[in-house]
Amino acid sequence: MFSLRLIILLAVVAVLLWLLKRLFSAEPEPEQLDAKKTENMHQCKYCGVHVPESTVLSVNNEPYCCQEHADLDQH
Ligand SMILES: [Zn+2]
Repeated sequence: MFSLRLIILLAVVAVLLWLLKRLFSAEPEPEQLDAKKTENMHQCKYCGVHVPESTVLSVNNEPYCCQEHADLDQH
């Protein structure tokens, strides 16, 4: 009888942990939210600054915020 209660308790704890894990993974990741907000934005490969697609500088298929950072990353 006592061990049965223990098993039930362990099962409940396991289910709670599983639910918490699911809840945690269901949350949208900040990166995904950021991607929605900054649509058509590119991240400078050198400094990580987000640059609009219209002003992004593409060197060797890599996005950069300015020519200086493109040059710095090449050397
Ligand atoms: Zn940069």
